[in-house]
Amino acid sequence: MQRRHPWVFESAIARGGADSGETVRVESHDGAFLAWAAFSPASKIRARAWSFVETQRIDAAFLASVCARAVAARGLFDLQSDGVRVVHGEADGLPGLIVDRYGDTLVAQFLSAGVERWKDVLADALLKATGLAKLYERSDASGREREGLKPVTGWLRGDGPTAIVIREHGWKLSLDIATGHKTGFYLDQRDSRQRFAELAQHRRFRRVLNCFCYTGGFTVAALAGLKAANALQGAQLVSVDSSLPALERARGHLALNGFEGQGIEAEFLDANVNTVLREFIDQGRTFDAIVLDPPKFAPTAAHAERAARAYKDINRLALKLLEPGGVLLTFSCSGGISADLFHKIVASAGIDAGVDGYIAERLGAAPDHPMTIEFPEGEYLKGLVVVRKPA
Ligand code: SAH
Repeated sequence: MQRRHPWVFESAIARGGADSGETVRVESHDGAFLAWAAFSPASKIRARAWSFVETQRIDAAFLASVCARAVAARGLFDLQSDGVRVVHGEADGLPGLIVDRYGDTLVAQFLSAGVERWKDVLADALLKATGLAKLYERSDASGREREGLKPVTGWLRGDGPTAIVIREHGWKLSLDIATGHKTGFYLDQRDSRQRFAELAQHRRFRRVLNCFCYTGGFTVAALAGLKAANALQGAQLVSVDSSLPALERARGHLALNGFEGQGIEAEFLDANVNTVLREFIDQGRTFDAIVLDPPKFAPTAAHAERAARAYKDINRLALKLLEPGGVLLTFSCSGGISADLFHKIVASAGIDAGVDGYIAERLGAAPDHPMTIEFPEGEYLKGLVVVRKPA
């Protein structure tokens, strides 16, 4: 905490205690003030900082001002979407709170004891700061257990449909805030989807493979790029995910965006990506664009080694399926895998596959998922654009 890192681990605490979510004064061994923090008796992260200013009172007015600042900060970015991450936890000074806005609806995850305790105050403050009336709670993420909290979902303020259509760039994307992953959608990949659309437009992809496609965001992006290049006719797109409801929504996105009847061939496979990649290699299929956006293989650094093998494996297989000159967008959203390590993993996948590539670009989370300099753990999503060297 001396360096404004927002967490105190259990092992770093010599004495003291409090109830779940209660505000505590954190002091160094010699009694010097370090921070005001929310106490979490069940969690390894035993306290999370609200403020490093000794004179600051942690009350409703303070939390309302932090919420208002987070909302105002989003105005700094040209996000080209009405799906926006309004609060990104520690980076916004609200440890354990995630809030996404989908049109006129807020969806919040209260994932720490501190924000749980202040839930009503935060809900009112968020609605006031955004001028909205509806807030749905999706506090059913696994992090809640580690804080000793039970899962909770449902309308916290207002009421309305849980099926929502947002506009990202020029596209329509449907989601359900009650049943979708996380708060309903992966807003963090917004900029990378846009980049994929640009690449599709420029390179006129003929065969696209979107692995771990969820509701087909990257598939829609590719189609939008091809449409802009007047190159939809004859394009083949394969989208793979192990969630059938997500795939059905992905398929629905074709009609929703007017891509049906345009001479495209779109397959949606309810399957394990690892199996599909191996089958495609056996069948001799190749692609000129592949997206690999797997779930978090390494939630923490402790899982890094096993996760590294899993990442290497899928990247090796994908590189084998890539045409010379083709493009691979490969991601890791594991906090436990650094950008540096991820680069090394992809490099060794290339060696094993016998494929040479250029790292053409580095990708990351969209700017409404900010990182702060004090909190390196905030860098979770990293991506590489790898171009296979032409034959
Ligand atoms: N690219 C997506 C987000 C992907 S999230 C987007 O832009 O919206 C990761 C996805 O991987 C989830 O949809 C999950 O259902 C899927 N998944 C997890 N393990 C899988 C596996 N072994 N094979 C196929 N899909 C898997």
